[in-house]
Amino acid sequence: MRKDNFRVSVIVPAFNEEGCILLLVERLLKILQRYFDYEILFIDDGSNDGTLQLLKKVHSENPKINFLSFSRNFGHQSALRAGTLHASGDCIISLDADLQHPPELIPDLIDHWKEGYDIVYTIRKDDRKISFFKKITGWIFYKAMNLISDINFEQGEADFRLLDRNAAAELNNLSESAVFLRGMVKWLGFKQIGITYVPDERVWGGTKYSKRKMFGLAISGITGFSIKPLRISTLIGVSIAFLSLLYGIYALYIKFFTNNSIEGWTSVFFMVTFIGGIQLIMIGI
Ligand code: UDP
Ligand code: MG
Repeated sequence: MRKDNFRVSVIVPAFNEEGCILLLVERLLKILQRYFDYEILFIDDGSNDGTLQLLKKVHSENPKINFLSFSRNFGHQSALRAGTLHASGDCIISLDADLQHPPELIPDLIDHWKEGYDIVYTIRKDDRKISFFKKITGWIFYKAMNLISDINFEQGEADFRLLDRNAAAELNNLSESAVFLRGMVKWLGFKQIGITYVPDERVWGGTKYSKRKMFGLAISGITGFSIKPLRISTLIGVSIAFLSLLYGIYALYIKFFTNNSIEGWTSVFFMVTFIGGIQLIMIGI
């Protein structure tokens, strides 16, 4: 059981979210005020609307609400990393600015943490409020990731989670440059548990995740966590090299013990397949 006089950090990446900030702050404060100590840390991801001005204003009214400001748009994952690095709480909760991740789930996350879990992640249930495109691309992505990586992802996992300070410290130590936090957090180990929630609709504006950004995130996930395709290519390479070796022996037999050999063809064919096999093995290594 963890102590009672702890500090909660809530980190919120925000990219052009001027219409969400005040609503989010209001909902968060209702929840956080019941705890011994809290901080809300916004990460302004190079917004070009009124987000930064609003953050300055809320900070001047309540110094427990703070913000980092990026020099340009670095992306959601980088914002989360910066937030985790600068948060000072005993537990660190990340959620989206658009209120799709209901702050009312925070007490539940904290209760699990107090029971001794180091990482409490969330799984989205009931997808009625998520667009069809997001659902289908998400589904394909998670299926593919589970197939090609050693980490098991659950459908509907997002960057809405609680990290104990020790787990956060280990995450901060990873020096990955293409960040896919969902994978990195899974990979960390520790005592983890997932809880389900029903997402809400975006309170204001549209998605800040362009197709290009989503694609970039998928690529980071796939390149960062997929050992299996390389192992498969090694295996195919070894098989091809072995088969071409057998074929080479057969070609030698044809050449020296029969009269059916075609000049040059066997050696060329053998070399092509053998080199192909060797290349696949090398790529795998
Ligand atoms: N976000 C960000 N930088 C970006 C894109 C998004 O910090 O380049 C933030 C955004 O403000 C929000 C969170 O990441 O707080 C999730 O984005 P969004 O809600 O637009 O994604 P969706 O829910 O549509 O997947
Ligand atoms: Mg959203």
